Amino acid sequence: MSFNDLGLEPELLRAVADKGYTTPTPIQKQAIPAVLSGRDVLAGAQTGTGKTAGFVLPLLQKLGSPQGSAPRVLVLTPTRELAAQVSESARDYGAHKKLRTRVIFGGVGERPQIDGLRVGCDILVATPGRLLDLAERGLVDLSKVQCLVLDEADRMLDMGFIQPIRRISRMLPPQRQNLMFSATYSEDIRQLAEKMLRNPVAIEVASRNKTADRVEQIAYRVAKEQKRHLLVHLFENGTGTEGPWQQALVFARTKHGANRLAEQLDEAGVRAAAIHGNKSQAARVRALEDFKAGRIRALVATEVASRGLDIKELPQVVNYELPNVPEDYVHRIGRTARAGSTGHAVSLVAPDEGQLLRDIERTMRQQVPFAQTPEFKILETRPQAPRPAQQGQGQGHRQDHRGHGQNRSHGGGQSRPGGGGSSSGRGGGNAGRPGSRPQRFGSAGRSRTAH
Ligand code: AMP
Repeated sequence: MSFNDLGLEPELLRAVADKGYTTPTPIQKQAIPAVLSGRDVLAGAQTGTGKTAGFVLPLLQKLGSPQGSAPRVLVLTPTRELAAQVSESARDYGAHKKLRTRVIFGGVGERPQIDGLRVGCDILVATPGRLLDLAERGLVDLSKVQCLVLDEADRMLDMGFIQPIRRISRMLPPQRQNLMFSATYSEDIRQLAEKMLRNPVAIEVASRNKTADRVEQIAYRVAKEQKRHLLVHLFENGTGTEGPWQQALVFARTKHGANRLAEQLDEAGVRAAAIHGNKSQAARVRALEDFKAGRIRALVATEVASRGLDIKELPQVVNYELPNVPEDYVHRIGRTARAGSTGHAVSLVAPDEGQLLRDIERTMRQQVPFAQTPEFKILETRPQAPRPAQQGQGQGHRQDHRGHGQNRSHGGGQSRPGGGGSSSGRGGGNAGRPGSRPQRFGSAGRSRTAH
């Protein structure tokens, strides 16, 4: 089947050809005709399946030409990154049409967004909080919305957006088309779908909670304190045959942990930046651009950044810490092996994370095999001055004092492979035995305030 068979108009077929797509993905094959027919849709589709084009292409067709100033399509997304990404896709796929797309999200000045809304648009892509704020102040007219799209609805619920979504939907005309995309299904999602959708076409392209098959997943046992040393080793050597890593997206659990790891990687010669919810929008955009342009090798992200990051040909995803919510693992590793390419996901598993891994395996109904932990050097840590306030950081460090830098041993006897063979660590480094006793320099010299 080709895009020509899906009933799309020539302007859209040209845009698809411009993007270099030749064959519709499974979600596109099913969603495009369903959306064109005007039906509500409930789609179980993971990120990386091409779901954005699955709803954007038919909606562009249905919108026809520009009309008035109030949006006729509203797309809600959980994160700013995904909002930016969807609006970019709408502009790309609509390149040969004159339709106007605008995006609004929090964390940046509202004035340009308000001015833009006044000028008008056909498609509005928004995160729920900022949209609700503007709508309640009468700054956005939602009375002309003909189609509501909830993208990554599960994530929006996880992030506590259920009330804003309900309040926004009450501002929309009751007669409208509703599309809901979710990578996972929970009772909450089922209830939301029941409330929002009318007799939906159900589309499922990957079986529930199943990880992208093309992602090769492995795990290494390693003590918490030694993870960063192993990670540097992986950047320099890879996991086996693939050679040094050009780049990897590394997931940390906390914002502070992400900042610190980025600094430590930098110090070890792996250029890195952190991306998370406390960074200013400008800092997030800069980090993402630097990563896409290859100026940095490691992008250290927290969960919030795991959705909506569309980075082409990202070969490696690292779970520096396993997520507490098993579904988040699926989303994280969905960052690699997107649309046809293959990818690797490497998890660094400390002894106290065993249960998290078992929960993940149970959710995916799939095992994540342990590989032999390679020998790696222990790098010396330079003493750090107390951290100044980070540029581009917000105030909240709510969760930052958890779980890191505690002087507990997790190593003893948990993992035998490797061993302290290597002797020439950077800066007079020490040989590391994965899983051996914590190294004295693990947090030595770091100011207490860093924890
Ligand atoms: P999405 O799941 O919508 O985030 O899309 C994931 C990636 O797949 C994006 O980089 C898209 O540009 C790409 N993509 C979408 N549709 C196709 C297609 N039919 N063929 C090849 N790549 C595609």
